[in-house]
This record gives sequence, structure tokens and C-alpha cells, in this order.
Amino acid sequence: MGAAAHAGRIEVIAGAMFSGKSEELIRRVRRGIIARKRVQVFKSHLDSRYAGLYSVSSHDGAELDAAPVDSGAEIFRQVRPDTDIVAIDEAQFLDAGIVDVVTALAAAGKRVIIAGLDTDFRGEPFGPMGALLCVAEEVTKLQAICVRCGELACRPQRLIDGRPARYDSPTIMVGGRESYEARCRHCHEVPRADEDQRALELPEARVAGARS
Ligand SMILES: [Zn+2]
Repeated sequence: MGAAAHAGRIEVIAGAMFSGKSEELIRRVRRGIIARKRVQVFKSHLDSRYAGLYSVSSHDGAELDAAPVDSGAEIFRQVRPDTDIVAIDEAQFLDAGIVDVVTALAAAGKRVIIAGLDTDFRGEPFGPMGALLCVAEEVTKLQAICVRCGELACRPQRLIDGRPARYDSPTIMVGGRESYEARCRHCHEVPRADEDQRALELPEARVAGARS
């Protein structure tokens, strides 16, 4: 294997909403451009819920657009043979096939930089992010600031009509006014419809109740 193949590696920037993941991805892309690397940027088209597509501009004024994609296979088809750096933003929305795709790209000598939300509104691993963290050489976890208590935030709090979204609410809302904010583990609220499950979550409360 030559030096080009050895350049191949996977970096994941994971973390909560509003933690600066995209900014960190763009920072690494900019540095790649300064180093005269050939860069391609992809972004899940589903991201229009949060923020629009963006362009990365280099110091000489050239614009590098993020290409909207909805699958790992689509990224694989679009990556050019001479590309040095493949950046993928909002990877949590992509299919499980993205893991094999980035592994193949790294094996082919490409530096792959992935950014994505690590947990969904329920506080559970989001899409392929867990597996991507495992296959990466380097993982950067970023935290936002909790809007409730000011501590570091690691969870996206989903609000529907201003109230915490229930655990069983649909992942994609049609109609209904939903919004998101960053919260810490302790301020994160995911009400469950099932009272048995709530009792399991709060064993201390049950013990206290049994004593009285
Ligand atoms: Zn908090």
C-alpha cells in the first residue's frame, strides 16, 4: 500500500444539537482546502427541518456546496476517485449502509469526516451514529449548554406545541408545531404513556411509597 491509501481514516464529530458540530466539520474542511486537498461535502437532505444546506467558502472566494443526499449508496456513487476528503454532515439521518460506505472510502485512502447527533429526542442512539463511533479512528464529542440549568447539554429536547414530546410520539411530525432545544441529562424530559415503565424508571419513589 502506498502513502495515499495510508491517509485513509474516519473521524466522527458527535454531540447534541447546538453544540457546534457543523462548525467543527466546516473548520476541518476549510483547513483541508487550505492544504490544497480535494474536498467533497455531503449533507442529509432531511436536515431541512433544522437548517438549510450550506456552502463552505475558501480564502480565494471559491464556494464548495454541500450536496444533499439521502443514503450512503448515493454518497458512494458521487465520490470522485481523486477526492482526498469526504465530509458528511447530519449523518444520523442516513441509513445503516453508511457504515460500510465510509469504511470502504477510508480503505481507499480517503479521509472521512462525519458529523451527527448521537442521540435522538428519546435520548437513545440515533440511526447509524453508534456504529460510526465504533469504526472511527477519532471521536470528538461536543456538548451544548442546557437552556434550563446552564450546565453542559447532551440531549435534544423535543417540544410539541411547547410541551415535552412523549416517548411514543412519531419521529417525523406531520403538522403540529415542534421545536428543539439543548438540555442536560437531568433536565431532559421524555414522558411515557405507560405508568409501569415510569415506575421502573423511578425505583426510589416506589420504595419511598412502600415505606409510608
Ligand atoms: Zn440542565
